[in-house]
Amino acid sequence: NGSIRFDDVHFRYDENRPILKGISFEVPYGKTVAVVGPSGAGKSTISRLLFRFYDIQEGAITVNGQNLRDITQKSLRAAVGMVPQDTVLFNDTIAYNIRYGRMDATDEEVMEAAELAQIADFIRSLPDGLNTMVGERGLKLSGGEKQRVAIARTILKAPPILILDEATSALDSATESEIQSALDYVSKGRTTLVIAHRLSTVIGADEIIVLKDGVIAERGTHNSLLDEN
Ligand code: ADP
Ligand code: ADP
Repeated sequence: NGSIRFDDVHFRYDENRPILKGISFEVPYGKTVAVVGPSGAGKSTISRLLFRFYDIQEGAITVNGQNLRDITQKSLRAAVGMVPQDTVLFNDTIAYNIRYGRMDATDEEVMEAAELAQIADFIRSLPDGLNTMVGERGLKLSGGEKQRVAIARTILKAPPILILDEATSALDSATESEIQSALDYVSKGRTTLVIAHRLSTVIGADEIIVLKDGVIAERGTHNSLLDEN
């Protein structure tokens, strides 16, 4: 299974400055929930809490029906995968970079993931042209191509729960829409939490939560939120 629940979650980095002030929502199995809101609203804090980079001060976070506190780091990493804003690649082949996280994958599985993410042409190349010592072609990957590598890695790993934290925000708009369709493919039928700046990138979400100043200001579907504003 795969599900996420936040129950009245309170969080602050510093004693006198609450960042999340009682957040409750649920991402049911197989659904997609998006958190949108202005910069500084606390959106990325939600994904950091899910990876347990920090402990909450009040309330509860539940993953797969289990309190996050009681989940080992190892099973958390197996259950939750992330396509980050900015991907740092290892100085090894793209194939290695895709396989990272599931080293037991066959070449066929790696290739299939690369094809789905439309990065298959580069699979034997090294990112950034940093090191051509092993006799392979080095190349400078664009931001969009790096994102495709991250997406292929996630397709291969197939985590039950997926976090997309501003996964297209670093890209130009043409690349963004291409990557968006690859991301839609990965998140289909998978429990997904999307962190985004703009409503326009999360049209298909089952629920959209608008975070402002550490509280949920509004929630609904894309259409219902547009009607109200
Ligand atoms: P968003 O993702 O919505 O832009 P964040 O969750 O990154 O917002 O940040 C929410 C607030 O918490 C911001 O005001 C930010 O400055 C603050 N913040 C983020 N990380 C830290 C930190 N490590 N220590 C102190 N304050 C932080
Ligand atoms: P932001 O870039 O939004 O500030 P954070 O500071 O919350 O993000 O850190 C998120 C980072 O955590 C991502 O860049 C990602 O590489 C890393 N990360 C942590 N756990 C995982 C995981 N299980 N799978 C993939 N990435 C992870």
